[in-house]
Amino acid sequence: MKILVTGGCGYIGSHTVIELLENNYEVIIIDNFSNSKRDVLDKIKIITNKNFIFYEGDVCDNSILEKIFSENFIDGVIHFAGFKAVGESVEKPLMYYRNNLDATLSLLETMNKFNCKKIVFSSSATVYGDAKEAKFVETIKKGTPSNPYGKTKTVIEDILEDLYTSDPTWSITMLRYFNPVGSHASGLIGDDPSGIPNNLMPYILRVAVGELECLTIFGNDYDTPDGTCIRDYIHVVDLAKGHIKALDQLFNLESGIKIYNLGSGKGVSVTEIVTTFERVNNLKLNYRYGERRSGDLPNICADPSLALKELNWKTEKTLEDMCKDAYNFIQMQKNSIKGD
Ligand code: NAD
Ligand code: UDP
Repeated sequence: MKILVTGGCGYIGSHTVIELLENNYEVIIIDNFSNSKRDVLDKIKIITNKNFIFYEGDVCDNSILEKIFSENFIDGVIHFAGFKAVGESVEKPLMYYRNNLDATLSLLETMNKFNCKKIVFSSSATVYGDAKEAKFVETIKKGTPSNPYGKTKTVIEDILEDLYTSDPTWSITMLRYFNPVGSHASGLIGDDPSGIPNNLMPYILRVAVGELECLTIFGNDYDTPDGTCIRDYIHVVDLAKGHIKALDQLFNLESGIKIYNLGSGKGVSVTEIVTTFERVNNLKLNYRYGERRSGDLPNICADPSLALKELNWKTEKTLEDMCKDAYNFIQMQKNSIKGD
């Protein structure tokens, strides 16, 4: 089976490409390196010892997509390409709507044209908005995300639903990710955002290696057991494996539209992740408690039981694994920079 992976050089995309290759899928990647580095391609080859096809280009550009679909018989698509920084999306909403929506529309138009109607889409827990449920289950009505990034995810889910209503021969799976962290065990690939990170784990890593001075934990006066926010962290390798299960299902079903939460179902507080990171990596992190960050919800956790029931998927890696693998990655990065 030949799978087109849009955004396959990014954090989740690259881990998923590895799982695809290891499961004997043939892979074609398109990426424009707007948020990734070219050397990821070599690293995927080193890790898997397998080859794949790569096109450098913008998924918003119908002409390159048509070229890819004309040159390859593609059985299905995993669509990761998009911008993902919440704060940046507030500052540059047009850039976010343009990229995330155009990329999806161009892709779906081209897939339609070439009669390739199987797609897995990277959605997010953000589509639940500020739902009050202790655990988010797929049947909760979608909410209103507080930022343009999140809104692009709800709009794309709506587009996919409308597409399926208009043509039920499509097979569409939307995966709502919770908080992906960690890295491949090789330490060669991982989440390495440029500039000062917004997300918790990349920030912790920069403090751990001395590139940033101190982690601020945003708020310790929430209505949670230790006062800090709770999230459902998921190891990126578990997440990548979820895509293989989703694809397997996509190729077994005639057609259909599905939504699955990919999370562990276990809430972890910010303080808990910090202390776990210190313990498993045998170090002290410099951190302080600060003001709440605007827009943060106190408690976000998946109910992942549908993915277990229908995809036979559940997380296998622990919080300890996430903290160890993430730290291994940043150390390998630092060492390779020193060695350059
Ligand atoms: P990432 O930024 O690391 O990867 C996205 C990749 O897509 C990058 O390699 C980037 O260069 C590429 N890209 C972006 N726009 C493109 C375009 N128009 N044409 C070609 N390539 C393009 O992000 P990620 O963390 O791997 O996330 C992948 C997907 O999962 C995104 O759609 C994101 O919104 C979604 N998601 C991520 C998280 C998370 O916390 N990381 C959570 C929920 C959902
Ligand atoms: N967080 C924090 N300090 C940071 C970054 C994040 O305390 O420097 C907290 C944030 O308030 C949230 C959790 O860590 O409760 C996860 O934040 P992240 O941005 O990684 O993901 P989100 O769930 O907001 O998408």
